[in-house]
Amino acid sequence: MRLILLGPPGAGKGTQSQIIAERLGIPQLSTGEMLRAAVKAGTPIGLKAKEIMSAGGLVPDEVVVGIIADRIAQPDCARGFILDGFPRTLPQAAALDALMRSKGIALDHVIELKVDDTILVSRIETRAKETLAAGGTVRADDNAEALKTRLMAYYRETAPLTGYYFAHHLLRPVDGMAAIDAVTSQINTVLTGGGRGNG
Ligand code: AMP
Repeated sequence: MRLILLGPPGAGKGTQSQIIAERLGIPQLSTGEMLRAAVKAGTPIGLKAKEIMSAGGLVPDEVVVGIIADRIAQPDCARGFILDGFPRTLPQAAALDALMRSKGIALDHVIELKVDDTILVSRIETRAKETLAAGGTVRADDNAEALKTRLMAYYRETAPLTGYYFAHHLLRPVDGMAAIDAVTSQINTVLTGGGRGNG
């Protein structure tokens, strides 16, 4: 199964992809996580991405496409994968198509987590508070200023992907406002062929 989870920051992409990845026994590929690891390790990619990420901007397409191309080539992706946070721009989506075509594989579903903008800020604030309470380090971009930039990037660059995947008959919208379990069960319905997708 090869899936994309699409949605604005705070929509629950990370939470849901982790749950589905575990259930299906396939890896969750989060470009955000991979980039944060690169920043922490101080690799050349990390050094390039650090400032952009903490300000809430998008890392250049060629950087993330390169990361995903390398990752998808790993043996654990042979049975499938869940893309969480990639693609985020139309050129990334086109690059992913070309990459997958060259490997003779295709996407099964693009799951769009639909949420009201008004709850995103409070979800991000809650995530930061929970991380702190658990003794963790809050993400550099989980603050009001960076969130504004991340939302703008989402609406300008990423939201058009819903049209792109609709046109490819892959888009499966689910209600991301529901409780975590209820969202998971909607996604399960899609994956077992019962979803009201557009193809
Ligand atoms: P995320 O963990 O998905 O919220 O990603 C955190 C940050 O990493 C984003 O705000 C971007 O700065 C960067 N990032 C992650 N994925 C991508 C991507 N596909 N394209 C560009 N930038 C990305």
